[in-house]
Amino acid sequence: MFTPKTLLIIGAGALGSVTACLAARAGHRVTVVDPAPIGANASGVAAGMLAPAFECLLDRASQGRYSLLREARDLWPQLAADIGLELERSGAMALGARDQAAECADALRALGADAAIVAQPDGRWGAFTGDDWRLDPMVALMRLRKAAVEFGARFNDDLTAPLEADGVVLATGAGLTPGDRAPELALLSPIKGHILRAAGDFASGPVLRAPGVYLCRAPGELVLGATMEVGRNDTDVDRSVVARLLVDAQVLTAGLGVLDWRASAGVRAATPDGLPMVGYSCSGDAILAVGARRNGWLLAPMVAGVVLDTLEGRRSSLAALFDPARFGR
Ligand SMILES: Cc1cc2nc3c(=O)[nH]c(=O)nc-3n(C[C@H](O)[C@H](O)[C@H](O)COP(=O)(O)OP(=O)(O)OC[C@H]3O[C@@H](n4cnc5c(N)ncnc54)[C@H](O)[C@@H]3O)c2cc1C
Repeated sequence: MFTPKTLLIIGAGALGSVTACLAARAGHRVTVVDPAPIGANASGVAAGMLAPAFECLLDRASQGRYSLLREARDLWPQLAADIGLELERSGAMALGARDQAAECADALRALGADAAIVAQPDGRWGAFTGDDWRLDPMVALMRLRKAAVEFGARFNDDLTAPLEADGVVLATGAGLTPGDRAPELALLSPIKGHILRAAGDFASGPVLRAPGVYLCRAPGELVLGATMEVGRNDTDVDRSVVARLLVDAQVLTAGLGVLDWRASAGVRAATPDGLPMVGYSCSGDAILAVGARRNGWLLAPMVAGVVLDTLEGRRSSLAALFDPARFGR
């Protein structure tokens, strides 16, 4: 028989917000605590790509994980429909000479992704996949919160209010220092990322990708990302890093330098193997939902599902893969 639990979720980023939404919908009494304004976190600055194909191709830490990331992506359509969130499905593309595009398309197909090569108006060729999608992170955070509240969840910015809870979920991103409740947080390392946004009347299209840089093209906004600054845990914008990102982006398309970019930075939390830690801390005091590195949006419904399984005493098929104890005590 289902027994509703009282659940305290600390952190209202992608992982905490999706968990809140799913747990409240399942009938649990959920309170989310986060002193930061909505979106003032890595989740709010992220590009919002749900990109199993190109992440596996271009990011070494994701290599060999296409099936897992695609499974995570496939949890989004139902959740998005439930909360009234639009998913952008224009795909993604790497540009180059024809033989480079063909080689890239072969590599995408070898992962299991769909791929085709497409001639471009500027004479280049694109290796296109429809496997990679995108969401708008700020819209997603707002829709998740609204849906969670409609299911009965409460959001609270007061950390001092005492709260009785059957379960505590730590979804604190790179923000919480390790303590007795969760010594495993010491395993997380920060990776700062600069990202640029320009507002305007742009044509939408597939995300353009190259090693180290991508350009998301939505009507009304371009998003250019993102640096991977390992070990940095501040969100200061460094003008020289922004300038370098714009130079790197020249491989994608010309003319980006003249746009009016707004720069921001966020901090990803990464585990030693690049997969999140989800499950009880060795202290037994908290369920961890942290360490999703550069795929926190992509992985959020999957992580939230494992949290729910843990809370409700089911053994998830992903429990071992995400077990916080996998790095040893
Ligand atoms: C530049 C950039 C681009 C990215 N692009 C993508 C992308 O395209 N696709 C993708 O899937 N991922 C992307 N990511 C990664 C993604 O943003 C993260 O993996 C994800 O946001 C992590 O979510 P989170 O909920 O774990 O952490 P966060 O979003 O950091 O949220 C943690 C929350 O916990 C709160 N908190 C911390 N400590 C406490 C405390 N003691 N008490 C209460 N609250 C606390 C914080 O205020 C914060 O709101 C990107 C990241 C960056 C930086």
